[in-house]
Amino acid sequence: MFPAVLPTYNRADVAFVRGEGPYLFAEDGKRYLDFGAGIAVAALGHAHPHLVEALREQAGKLWHTSNLYRIPGQERLARRLVEASFADTVFFTNSGVEAIECAIKMARRYQYGSGHAERFRIITFEGAFHGRTLTALAAGNQAKYLEGFGPKVDGFDQVPFGDFPAVEKAVTAETAAILIEPVQGESGIKPARPEFLRALRRLCDDRGLLLIFDEVQTGVGRTGALFAHERSGVTPDIMAVAKGIGGGFPMGACLATEKAAAAMTAGSHASTFGGNPLAMAAGNATLDVVLAPEFLERVRQVGNYMCQQMAGLAAAHPGLFEDVRGEGLMLGLKMKVPNTAYIDALRAEGLLAVGAGDNVVRFLPPLIISEAHVREAMALMEKAAAALENQKVAAQ
Ligand SMILES: *Cc1c(COP(=O)(O)O)cnc(C)c1O
Repeated sequence: MFPAVLPTYNRADVAFVRGEGPYLFAEDGKRYLDFGAGIAVAALGHAHPHLVEALREQAGKLWHTSNLYRIPGQERLARRLVEASFADTVFFTNSGVEAIECAIKMARRYQYGSGHAERFRIITFEGAFHGRTLTALAAGNQAKYLEGFGPKVDGFDQVPFGDFPAVEKAVTAETAAILIEPVQGESGIKPARPEFLRALRRLCDDRGLLLIFDEVQTGVGRTGALFAHERSGVTPDIMAVAKGIGGGFPMGACLATEKAAAAMTAGSHASTFGGNPLAMAAGNATLDVVLAPEFLERVRQVGNYMCQQMAGLAAAHPGLFEDVRGEGLMLGLKMKVPNTAYIDALRAEGLLAVGAGDNVVRFLPPLIISEAHVREAMALMEKAAAALENQKVAAQ
């Protein structure tokens, strides 16, 4: 019988019934330390009291009105994001890919509004991941995701990640913008060099292009800064954010400067659900915590500690691990054995992690973890490494 749930995922055979902080509890009662956070989404862990209270309160009042009317929670969250970032304005979406779609449309529309309707192409980077709509797949240009889905949407030109001369060469009279993840996530936690981002900024300014950052995964504190690009000193014209922004509630946002957004007039873009009162309650409550004094400082401290511990683990098992990479609490272990084998071994020990390209195991724990949680995770990583090594010896 064909599965009632469309089988587009290779799911692990475990289902969770409850969460508390960085822990998840499965149907059989087994406890897991969740260092995947639902792919960087549960930024404050599970059942965070402040989020639960905010959603409970909003759920009893009002869920949805549509964007035909003012939504006070939206106005408040937009104002707070504007105050905390380069942006002047925000469009709310339900997912990451919708935030990307808004960013791409906005960049094209900006050029159109500036008298350059011929500029519609976007330069993207090898290894990029921007989501799964037909447009975002064309932007990411990964053959494995495009296969069988018909002609690729036109308007994207891809160059090697970090290769500035290639970017310069790719700019034509039809180029509208450059789209980049400050740290590539899905393809294996690859940070762009700050000098590279600065060079892209200058190129965009010189050639009348817009710079778009995809911070869907890196945003909202994940790398230890509110947004990952802050470290480079460069700001984009447009930025897509999602994953952690609702603390687990599905929502995203497209942030932009006034200049970049000027041609987005009434009727030029819309979403039925985007920015609904429930999502805005979750988003505002998440920001309450992330913007509290010293929260991001603690993310950096715990992230540094975890990165050091992981480097020690990697050095102790040179047959399994190649290197440690990432920033803040967006960390990866590049494996010498299949990453899936280590992820399975970790799960068997009670630690959840997420796979990534380049044979990397990604750790994206809730931002609220302490050094004690890191020590607990390291002990499980050590046990899983020993289990893999024993398997290898047994197989010889
Ligand atoms: C997850 C992700 C997306 C897509 O987000 P969805 O919510 O799955 O649509 C886009 N860009 C990056 C960098 C991501 O990590």
